Amino acid sequence: MKDTFRHQGKRKQLVEVVKSKGVKDENVLAAINKIPRHLFMDSSFEDHAYQDKAFPIAADQTISQPYTVAFQSELLQVQKGEKVLEIGTGSGYQTAVLCELGAKVFSIERQQELYKKTKLFLAKINYRPKFLSFGDGYKGLPNYAPFDKIIVTAGAPFVPRPLLAQLKVGGRLVIPVGDDPQIMTLFVRKSAKEFEKKEFGEFRFVPLLEDKN
Ligand code: SAH
Repeated sequence: MKDTFRHQGKRKQLVEVVKSKGVKDENVLAAINKIPRHLFMDSSFEDHAYQDKAFPIAADQTISQPYTVAFQSELLQVQKGEKVLEIGTGSGYQTAVLCELGAKVFSIERQQELYKKTKLFLAKINYRPKFLSFGDGYKGLPNYAPFDKIIVTAGAPFVPRPLLAQLKVGGRLVIPVGDDPQIMTLFVRKSAKEFEKKEFGEFRFVPLLEDKN
């Protein structure tokens, strides 16, 4: 569990790559610069950690590409203290970025193995999301709603209604929609009934699955 000068140097280069692809938010870039991404992956893949690529983790899932994490985080416009719901905890890397941005993070993962592993791991490296949950992200977390922001980190075949319903007025939902590839989509809740929708191009995610295991 070491974070060496070599890792830190590679991370600086990764930040430059993410920046060169158009991410400007200084807080997001600072989070990428700070978080030891190599610790979120199997140690035998350490050399891949600071390439701007998605990579396999446990349970046939992936840790998202750093640029994608940065792009979604920038779209979310997280302010300190906001309640943010993440669907697809996975490796916990995006969770850690949200923690660095000062969010109160709630996250849902449907693979039990990943849920357990990531819960222990995040505590070990001192990230403290408010609530990690094992369950179905399509349903959101009605008991903890409403949320200022919601981020979905798996490809959604459609936009789950409960997620729109659990958003505060003024809140933002960032969700990749479609089969393969997905279109990154932002919903801003304008009022109880009105949502503004904007699309931001193609991305590729593992699918948001409906049935548990
Ligand atoms: N944010 C993660 C990305 C992981 S990939 C990271 O930074 O590493 C997407 C994750 O979504 C996988 O872990 C997958 O198991 C999870 N997932 C898929 N369908 C889900 C669902 N219905 N509810 C919650 N999580 C889901």
